[in-house]
Amino acid sequence: MSSDSAAANHRKPIPRVIPREQHNLSRKQISRGALRVLYGLKDAGFRACLVGGAVRDLLLGRQPKDFDVATDATPEEVRKLFRNCRLIGRRFRLAHVVFGSEIVEVATFRGTGEGDTSGDRHVVEGRILRDNVWGAIEEDALRRDFRVNALYYDIADFSVIDYVGGIEDLEQKHLRLIGDPATRYREDPVRMLRAARLAAKLGFSIDPAAVAPFKELGHLLEDAPTARLFDECQKMFLAGYGLASFRMLVQCGLLRHLFPGTVRALAHDASGSLRDLIERGLSGTDARVADKRPVTPAFLFAVLLWGEVELLANELQAQGTVRSLAWQRAAHRVMAEQGKRVAIPRRFSYAIEEIWALQPRFAERTRKRVFRLMAHPRFRAAYDFLLLRAGESEALRESGQWWTEIQALTPEQLSQLLAPKSVGGKPGENAGSTGRRRRRGGRRRKSRSPEAGPQE
Ligand code: ATP
Ligand code: MG
Repeated sequence: MSSDSAAANHRKPIPRVIPREQHNLSRKQISRGALRVLYGLKDAGFRACLVGGAVRDLLLGRQPKDFDVATDATPEEVRKLFRNCRLIGRRFRLAHVVFGSEIVEVATFRGTGEGDTSGDRHVVEGRILRDNVWGAIEEDALRRDFRVNALYYDIADFSVIDYVGGIEDLEQKHLRLIGDPATRYREDPVRMLRAARLAAKLGFSIDPAAVAPFKELGHLLEDAPTARLFDECQKMFLAGYGLASFRMLVQCGLLRHLFPGTVRALAHDASGSLRDLIERGLSGTDARVADKRPVTPAFLFAVLLWGEVELLANELQAQGTVRSLAWQRAAHRVMAEQGKRVAIPRRFSYAIEEIWALQPRFAERTRKRVFRLMAHPRFRAAYDFLLLRAGESEALRESGQWWTEIQALTPEQLSQLLAPKSVGGKPGENAGSTGRRRRRGGRRRKSRSPEAGPQE
């Protein structure tokens, strides 16, 4: 079924029902929390289905990130059933049922809202600002974004229900929007990012009809709520498929609407070192996610925005601003500009600027400064960042190696190595010039490698 025929079937979609014995989705794969919600609703007489990414991923044999439930119970009715429940969202009201660290998202079936003036739906110039009109399951299916995201697993009989051709798309590894793509993007521009993200995550192709409007409508992302775009960035870049998402955004021409500075810097990246830094940064993050190690948005944004900071700092220096001030101003300006597109919470923006600001300190190898830098709470992230910059110059590559080697030493060994007498030793052979000068009591001069980077 094409997306056009899905739209034509708008009023009475005839579902394809796949009975339990003909699909591979089993209750054993569903989280305990989601099962409790599904059965809790069913036992209270409501319709309850697993829906969205969880059904899609399980049918593909993948482990879902989370479990979403759709029901004909209203949010208030859901809250009455579960003690551990809170209602969230204004634009899209939902119930969250909490089981320890697991949150099961429960959405009431949405209606198309046509002819309904009583419900809480607010549409301005085609954009849906609020969508809280309840409806029947077959209408709910049509309100979802992609056909593969509109499959329901019904807890009443364990069947999978497909109103829009989602199974066919899963088989073809193809993403199609439900309905007319341009209309669906105008309703909610973030769906463009979701297309790129899901294609990257699943390794699916995107229907040409769903890609075609990106050029004309991509700019609508520029007035999407910045906090929502921050959430979307986390899903794209911190969920284990960041590199694939980045490449997909570049390929789709969407990156410039989210990270215009990054696109500008990449256009100046003749040597390819920035592209290399970003790609290695993202694949390192993906590897950490795969190993279940923690990841932070701060490092990610430091990586994505670094090229623009460097470019701007160089421009400011060319206009006569002194080096350290140029880097400081560039960092502030890039963060302020980026904040207009993606709302980066304060605690992360501090960390990002710190990661950048620590970079020149890696050029200083006196004992005191080395120990002080290693004790800095942001040392690890700044060091990881230094390693990513290896492609910028031989000096930075050498610096990264030196800092890697010294971390393998005990504090005693390190102390000995960095003692003034050991100047010329290895590693740390150029330790000490700043320290010696200072001990002589002269006015402190800044010792730094010409490659060092931002302000002190
Ligand atoms: P993930 O695996 O990343 O969780 P997902 O498809 O489950 O992917 P969610 O954000 O968890 O994504 O959304 C759950 C479901 O809600 C989707 O599968 C889709 O059916 C529906 N949905 C989410 N966002 C939108 C949107 N912007 N427009 C229409 N439907 C949406
Ligand atoms: Mg989900």
